[in-house]
Amino acid sequence: MLKRRSPPEGKARAGFGPIGTARGLVDIDMRAVGVVAAFETKEEPRMESPDAPPRFVYTFGIGATSTGTSTHALLGGKGASLAEMTRLGLPVPPGFTLTTEACRAFIANRGQLTAEIRAEVLAALAKLEAHMGFSLGDNEAPLLVSVRSGAAVSMPGMMDTVLNLGLNDVTVEALGNRTGNPRFAWDSYRRLIQMYSDVVMGLHGDHLEQLLERLKEKEDVISDASLSTEALRELTGIYRRRLVDLSGATFPQDPKEQLWAAIEAVFSSWNNRRAVDYRNHHRIPHDLGTAVTVQAMVFGNMGASSATGVGFTRNPNHGEPIFFGEWLPNAQGEDVVAGIRTPRPLNVESGALHVEETMEHALPEAYGELVRVKELLENHYRDVQDIEFTVQEGRLWVLQTRTGKRAPAAEVRIAVDMVDEGLITEDEAILRIRPETLEKLMHPRINPDAPRDVLAVGLGASPGAATGRVVFSAQDAVEWSGRGEAVILVRRETSPEDIHGMLKARGVLTARGGMTSHAAVVARGMSKPCIVGCRDIHVNYDDRNFSAGDRVINEGEVITIDGGEGLVMVGAVETIQPRPSAYVARIMGWADAQRRLKIRTNADTPRECAAARELGAEGVGLCRTEHMFFDKGRINTVREMILAETEAGRREALSRLLPMQREDFKGIFRAMAGFPVTIRLLDPPLHEFLTDEAEDITAMATYLGQSETKVRERYRALHEVNPMLGHRGCRLGITYPEIYEMQVRAIVEAACAVAKDGVAVEPEIMIPLVSHVRELELVRELVLTTVDNVLREVGGALKVKIGTMIELPRACMTADQIAPAADFFSFGTNDLTQTTFGISRDDCGRFLPLYVEAGILPGDPFVSVDPAVGALIEIATTRGRAANSDLHVGVCGEHGGDPASIAFFDGLGLDYVSCSPFRIPIARLAAAQAHLMQKKNVVHE
Ligand code: PEP
Ligand code: MG
Repeated sequence: MLKRRSPPEGKARAGFGPIGTARGLVDIDMRAVGVVAAFETKEEPRMESPDAPPRFVYTFGIGATSTGTSTHALLGGKGASLAEMTRLGLPVPPGFTLTTEACRAFIANRGQLTAEIRAEVLAALAKLEAHMGFSLGDNEAPLLVSVRSGAAVSMPGMMDTVLNLGLNDVTVEALGNRTGNPRFAWDSYRRLIQMYSDVVMGLHGDHLEQLLERLKEKEDVISDASLSTEALRELTGIYRRRLVDLSGATFPQDPKEQLWAAIEAVFSSWNNRRAVDYRNHHRIPHDLGTAVTVQAMVFGNMGASSATGVGFTRNPNHGEPIFFGEWLPNAQGEDVVAGIRTPRPLNVESGALHVEETMEHALPEAYGELVRVKELLENHYRDVQDIEFTVQEGRLWVLQTRTGKRAPAAEVRIAVDMVDEGLITEDEAILRIRPETLEKLMHPRINPDAPRDVLAVGLGASPGAATGRVVFSAQDAVEWSGRGEAVILVRRETSPEDIHGMLKARGVLTARGGMTSHAAVVARGMSKPCIVGCRDIHVNYDDRNFSAGDRVINEGEVITIDGGEGLVMVGAVETIQPRPSAYVARIMGWADAQRRLKIRTNADTPRECAAARELGAEGVGLCRTEHMFFDKGRINTVREMILAETEAGRREALSRLLPMQREDFKGIFRAMAGFPVTIRLLDPPLHEFLTDEAEDITAMATYLGQSETKVRERYRALHEVNPMLGHRGCRLGITYPEIYEMQVRAIVEAACAVAKDGVAVEPEIMIPLVSHVRELELVRELVLTTVDNVLREVGGALKVKIGTMIELPRACMTADQIAPAADFFSFGTNDLTQTTFGISRDDCGRFLPLYVEAGILPGDPFVSVDPAVGALIEIATTRGRAANSDLHVGVCGEHGGDPASIAFFDGLGLDYVSCSPFRIPIARLAAAQAHLMQKKNVVHE
């Protein structure tokens, strides 16, 4: 690296920091040479320490002894990667990192740095100053530093950064003199004041941004890069006066005061709203804390041969193995990530229309070095890297590397490509795909044949289609979506302040910003369709509209965005479900070879079964026969059966339902040829069939040819206070055996008919809501008798398994008594959760979200299995299997499609899970991951 080696007594020739100048005052650190050789060593990363073992602060690039191993948990992702890249000999500016432990100590100390932390910082700073030959606040040789956040888990753009720290009214002159570039010095100073006011003083960035815009107008320039030295000098004065007006506080002239305040502000930003929202959304624990890295500045704003940018080692949208990125000449890093200026493509592969705009063309040497660095980093970390860099007067500096966030399609393709390239194993590829990625890949996209009215085109930053009403603020996005509206958040640029609105919006559209602006990165992480840099549109916050040419879209109007193609369309445009790609198929193939759990589906129609088979279902785990009756043509017959007052009346209605059921079952058996089909006998919570709406009663009276009064009376007689705990499940079959008799007849007749056509059938009859073994024994007897009768009548032979749902705590606790009467158990985790908690499945929406938000529960127990429910499942499985060694055990509640629950079920050694058709790929992958992790004790990131 370039730096001044001579000690600061030669201040007459002192420079201003780590930056190299063309004035020959610095020499070259040979550690940056021979990058490749150093890179290929595979030792554990290490961090340097001051002489006494540090607790809170670790240096890098200052040439001290190495002690210990750097970890993400302690140094944060940024600190760890800087330490690692330094060790590998890459061109990294030196500095030091305050650990996450320091952050936790800071928070525990009520937002104050402890004396111990301060002492360690001062010791590290002294080392940095001695190493650089510059000192923080020195009037002739001032050291400038950046203060940057960096958590263990990447949270792009969520926390704060201050650049150019160390400048004041005196050091800015020194910087200008030393570089011979006063314009750059004043540009750096005004940037420091801007960032400091935002991050440290907590003033909204817009205040100063507006002043900048005004000055640009006055000076008649479009870009801030064109502002003159004088204008920038004037701007710093304007900024500082404004700060006093806004806060009553002045911008501190003491660089140490700046440093302490910046460190404290960055630590505090761990708990700012957007960071907390982000952690909630991504389920990142709140007690990890962030590290803070203080690093010698390098400058991308020193003129035309300086630049800043971000590169992805592969395309993060689609995954092609091409170097993809953006850059801005004569700019500092924040300009790219904050989306303030729309950056240019790094190269033609990144979408440049003219080769002249690329970094490859404009700064070929630095670009060549960057390509070398990116290859080394990807090989080293064996994953896509997102690399932040700065070019200072033609020289490349690497400021960060981290695992690149990627869109779902890219996630799958990259994993498969990396297996083919020998970079990772198949098992690693399986573990790298997040199960929800597969779900997202099934999200709708625009039907290419659908008519559309394209209003504008921007950069497709996060693929997928979204339709919604236009809103212009994050707050409106939250409020409108709270009222059940689908919204698209439209902004000039999306600042991290907007995170809570982005979470609620179906999609995001910004007029400015590039593919690596945090709007784009965050939306991609959330898999929200997103378009950025849509220069065709003009957003008018005051008028609550945006225009494109002469067309105006007002707040509340519906638009559709295509985050892949970057298209903004008027109105709702038809979408279609994508088909899984060949890359997905290969991952699924590898996953299937690894998993132990079988994956069945919850499906009630032949169509759903066929869809489920295509997605890899290995049978039906739950066919809810009451769902087969919701059809318009059938519901009245079912109601008639329910309302009948006599057995004869019920049998009459049932005789009309029998052929319908038989035909349905035939279709299902055919679609599932060769696989087991578990059909659950009727389990209708009555309120799902008999609503006491006046018009339903009128319609039913007409249908039955009875008086409304009579029908209403019957409704009243059947009314239940708590239908979920009422006359449902096997209780119905025991009181009205003719219902189950009809259903068993339909199943057996259908199975025999289909078998006659040569289709392999494996019917399994399941009895719901059993709490006592006697219930099961009674119904089992009824089923067996009916099966025998029908087989005799049709002259067929058939193996039918008879089992039970286990969905009540009593059934779990008495599983040893129940198991001898069952061929299988299927856990109905929906009802089991409901009855374990005593929380109604239907009414929990009023308070459960609040419970989760308040931390009373770690998550919705109807989504991921609760430990107490899990304990009941374990007890039932153990007792059941002990009493019946042939017992087959699965899960058919919603938890059967939830990755965390699947891991638990795999650990228990269950035989299968069953879930809705579109969750099958997720379940297949989750089952493989669970098994691999168990087998290899691998922790998934
Ligand atoms: C269950 O309770 O988990 C279950 C699968 O049955 P249902 O949701 O139909 O009550
Ligand atoms: Mg149930």
